[in-house]
Amino acid sequence: MDLKKYIATIPDYPEKGVMFRDISPLMADGNAYSYAIREIVQYAIDKKIDVIVGPEARGFIVGCPVAFDLGIGFAPVRKPGKLPREVIEAQYEKEYGFDTLTMHADAIKPGQRVLIVDDLLATGGTVKATIELIEKLGGIVAGCAFLIELDDLKGREKIGDYAYKVLMHY
Ligand code: IMP
Repeated sequence: MDLKKYIATIPDYPEKGVMFRDISPLMADGNAYSYAIREIVQYAIDKKIDVIVGPEARGFIVGCPVAFDLGIGFAPVRKPGKLPREVIEAQYEKEYGFDTLTMHADAIKPGQRVLIVDDLLATGGTVKATIELIEKLGGIVAGCAFLIELDDLKGREKIGDYAYKVLMHY
């Protein structure tokens, strides 16, 4: 299936010079959405995944149906102040300054095989911080899966030797 038909491109959003790739037309089409999710489900089966981890907010949209289909758990990665119990933190560099991501301290059990799922890989800062959180909790990052990679931003360099899967490249 040509999934790119279902991606909208918005120039100069959220700021001038940025080409925003919007997955909402894909989510709105039942066939395209389920095709994309099934591709990631198959990848998760191949990697023998125990738990899915997804960064807010679009990582939930892609990661939760994968976890549901496999009958495994989902653990959210969130901005500070959003998770109600004890958390661990990781920082990552943004264009201007730093940002922090958090996970519940008991979200992953040591030795669990984790698949990170997000809508889009850009600079790789989000996935790098997510890998750090999972490893702090003793999880094994068995792979990362994205609907879209923005190739020019070289996020794959931050993923390094971890396995990863992408459905669409721009
Ligand atoms: P990174 O940390 O630079 O790799 O950015 C990835 C994160 O930013 C993901 O969680 C995406 O949801 C979000 N993001 C960055 N650029 C876009 C875009 O063009 N469309 C949708 N999400 C984006």
